Amino acid sequence: MSIVNSASAQLSKLPSVDRVLGFATVRRLVEEHGRTSVTEAVRELLAELRRSANTDLDEPAVCARLERAMAARSRPNLRPVFNLTGTVLHTNLGRALLPLEAVEAVIAAMTSPAALEYDLATGERGDRDELVESLLCGLTGAEAATVVNNNAAAVFLMLNTLALKREVVVSRGELIEIGGSFRLPDIMRRAGAKLVEVGTTNRTHAKDYAEAIGPRTAMLLKVHWSNYAISGFTSVVPEKELAAIAHARELPCVVDLGSGTLVDLTQYGLPREPTAGEAVANGVDLVTFSGDKLLGGPQAGILVGRKDLVERIKRNPLKRALRVGKITLAALEAVLRLYRDPDRLAERLTTLRLLTREAGDIAAQADRLLPALTRALAGHAGVSVQPMKSQIGSGALPVDVLPSAGFAIRPVAASQRGRALARIEAAFRALPIPVIGFVRDDAFQLDLRCLEDEEAFAAQLQSLEVGT
Ligand SMILES: *Cc1c(COP(=O)(O)O)cnc(C)c1O
Repeated sequence: MSIVNSASAQLSKLPSVDRVLGFATVRRLVEEHGRTSVTEAVRELLAELRRSANTDLDEPAVCARLERAMAARSRPNLRPVFNLTGTVLHTNLGRALLPLEAVEAVIAAMTSPAALEYDLATGERGDRDELVESLLCGLTGAEAATVVNNNAAAVFLMLNTLALKREVVVSRGELIEIGGSFRLPDIMRRAGAKLVEVGTTNRTHAKDYAEAIGPRTAMLLKVHWSNYAISGFTSVVPEKELAAIAHARELPCVVDLGSGTLVDLTQYGLPREPTAGEAVANGVDLVTFSGDKLLGGPQAGILVGRKDLVERIKRNPLKRALRVGKITLAALEAVLRLYRDPDRLAERLTTLRLLTREAGDIAAQADRLLPALTRALAGHAGVSVQPMKSQIGSGALPVDVLPSAGFAIRPVAASQRGRALARIEAAFRALPIPVIGFVRDDAFQLDLRCLEDEEAFAAQLQSLEVGT
């Protein structure tokens, strides 16, 4: 008999799709996941077995593979992870975590009709911005406020409304790029405004701005240094002075704060960061900032400032394309309400709670977890607890770091350390709740500042499998 014939004789031993669907375990899977999905998985598995000419699987083995396949199929694409990168507001990991108050407001808004654009006092059509406008004005001292999809949209809409076919004066020290896709000169061009650069990279003076103003000037714009610092021989024009120069020529002064915060962070022992309220008090006419950076809310772009300018922005037809939905507004309102009680903010606002964790507490947590982690990595790597420096992230306070603590994991293998490190990193990423750390100084490191669910972290360590 030829080899081909004996192989096909073997393959005919594979059970049919219907027979597999009749296995008790598989019937249970059908109840849980539905017939369509399980049938697809059975077909895929049988096809794979046929391709690999693997016909030795018995019923329990087939069922085990199907259970694994169904678990993988039902896992959501957007998966929760442990952010142990040491960057609290990590853009790739979703930035700010929302407090429970916001989650509850979101559930209510999602599961019940809500007065989103409906004035309950008059029964007439309302304005969705009014849900958060008075809160934002109360917290910043501004006359008016509006909300769009994110801060990039806020800057874009502001430029497109106030500076279409006109000039915007910006210091050469502030032509920022954030994460590659937000570059100020590009946004400006797409918004239809012409960038007029003044000063130099390290020094820009009042007269640089004043001399650049001409008949086509629409505004003076200041952009907060987000992800970098300029130090040494430097000079910048303070907001108050810049606003005065603009106002002397009847122009608005606008500030893109980026990660603007609503409260003075020094009261919580954190580095100073300019607040939106300070900009308003300094005479700035419009301020733009993100909802999901230091503010600790949902992804949103917030504009606060002079009423006439905010109204013009709201009348721009693009506002409709960039507006936020009820889910965002529900979360934002709930977060803004927490700010009305600054004394309890550090415990209730998740972002602030993580930022204010004491290094001593974090080190104690690391000590508690050390034995379990050491056991899980036995034979592959050594683990030590060491001091670390967390970053706020998302462009906030780039040069200020927060003392923290965590693990340095060093492979035992003396050779091919790079590959050993990559395997350890991959093993942590493959956990049921993937653990994201970082590699530095020849070690895979985990900064525990953002580890709140210590039990869940510890519980899954036993399933850590470092490949070889
Ligand atoms: C982060 C940032 C932006 C972009 O904000 P998104 O909310 O990410 O769209 C714009 N300007 C500055 C200065 C920033 O820091």
